[in-house]
Amino acid sequence: MARSRRPATHAALPEALLAQLADRLEGGTQDFLRAMGEPPPTSIRLNPDKPFHMGQEAEVVAWCTHGRYLPERPAFTFDPLLHAGAYYVQEASSMFLERAVHAIGPWRDRTLALDMCASPGGKSTHLRSLLPKDALLVANEVEPSRRQALQENLWKWGGWNVVITGAPPAAFLDLGELFDLVLVDAPCSGEGMFRKDPFAREQWNPSLVDRCERVQREILPHAWELVAPGGHLIYSTCTWEERENEDRIASLVALGAIPIDIPDGGSFGIERTISNGAIGHRFYPHRVRGEGFFMGVVKKPGGRTVHHPPVPHTPQQALSTWFRCAQHLVEVDGVQHATDPVWAAVVERISSSVRNVIPGLPVAEAKGGSWRPHPALALNGLLDRSAFPEVPLDHDTAIAYLKGQALPAVDARGTALATHRGLGLGWLQGAGSRWNNKWPNAWRIRGHAPGAPLVSWSAHDERGAGTGVPHG
Ligand code: SAM
Repeated sequence: MARSRRPATHAALPEALLAQLADRLEGGTQDFLRAMGEPPPTSIRLNPDKPFHMGQEAEVVAWCTHGRYLPERPAFTFDPLLHAGAYYVQEASSMFLERAVHAIGPWRDRTLALDMCASPGGKSTHLRSLLPKDALLVANEVEPSRRQALQENLWKWGGWNVVITGAPPAAFLDLGELFDLVLVDAPCSGEGMFRKDPFAREQWNPSLVDRCERVQREILPHAWELVAPGGHLIYSTCTWEERENEDRIASLVALGAIPIDIPDGGSFGIERTISNGAIGHRFYPHRVRGEGFFMGVVKKPGGRTVHHPPVPHTPQQALSTWFRCAQHLVEVDGVQHATDPVWAAVVERISSSVRNVIPGLPVAEAKGGSWRPHPALALNGLLDRSAFPEVPLDHDTAIAYLKGQALPAVDARGTALATHRGLGLGWLQGAGSRWNNKWPNAWRIRGHAPGAPLVSWSAHDERGAGTGVPHG
């Protein structure tokens, strides 16, 4: 079905849904309907590991340190900093994940986390930033057509110790109670997205709610079995249906889960709910600057019994000069993947249990009998930047690079790192009078002209951004 671009209006809300919401909103229905007719706020989440100068004060999202509202929706695609992973365009309510993760912490050494429904990666990239650097994040997406976006977003974000998998929840059961944290951002009826995404509204009908509840009933018990004693499960949706929200948390409480309160979870206009022993947090567009959303946290009884002890590790010499610290490398189909050596045994165990595993950060590809650096390494803090010469690109040259163009050069040789505003972007291969472009085809900017104003910071602070004529 073609996706409609027209803005949603409150007149478009289904009667059955409105009647049910009116009960919950307790006199706030008019304010709710008014808010549903307003344009959704635009927000981004900054990457704490890739700081840049925004050149303007931006309002902070109240529940997220690195969340920022923008005054308008710019042409994000034409901002090289987006492609460099300096920020992620994300709806503000979802950033409440920060409060949930803080409510569970402090995190112990070598935390193991699983994001069960991860694509396109909004919460995985956020989780990667919120957890300690030595944690391992397994980001799973069962739907093959959605895995490409997850990889791209995680690799651009640039965190260490990320394994990507593509398996149904039941496939993880052989691993047992392995994870300190499991996040289930469940497929849902999407009512909270009606204002932002008219397609969500067009799809909605009461049987969609039934179907989503059925899928959630399948996913959650499996996810719960994977939580270690003393570990936690975070559950979220972008719908207002009680059957898909509080009732699902209550089903875990019935299995022995302990509901966890999120400090400040009733502040900022967020509604804190208690129902059948479940604690939930609801977001409505007339009460918060964000879309409809729900989140709850539960804990498995018991002390933490699963430890992930460091395994004896012989440092691998191959490619070691490219990395800032020793890595465990696993080769799959001519690509080397890196993780912290302490996670080697766990990554091997995951690889032998579930399908479609990318066992770490792809760092090198076999090409003509030698190793070439992988595009994901250019974007990652693991890269030892002294290992390659750098070619700084200004805004327009970076856009040409992101479109896949070769760049003119003088005596360009070997492999170089293209940077923008000091951030690693991608690889260049010298060919004398030009740099050949190694930016992945699938990531190229396809459009020719921005359909909206450029991001405001592209006009500011071009200090250190480089020139338009890169030299070898
Ligand atoms: N967490 C993502 C983010 O923040 O960007 C959004 C996840 S989206 C709400 C739900 C995801 O669950 C989709 O990517 C969908 O493909 C996946 N999914 C659908 N059915 C599933 C199932 N039966 N088990 C696990 N995941 C499923």
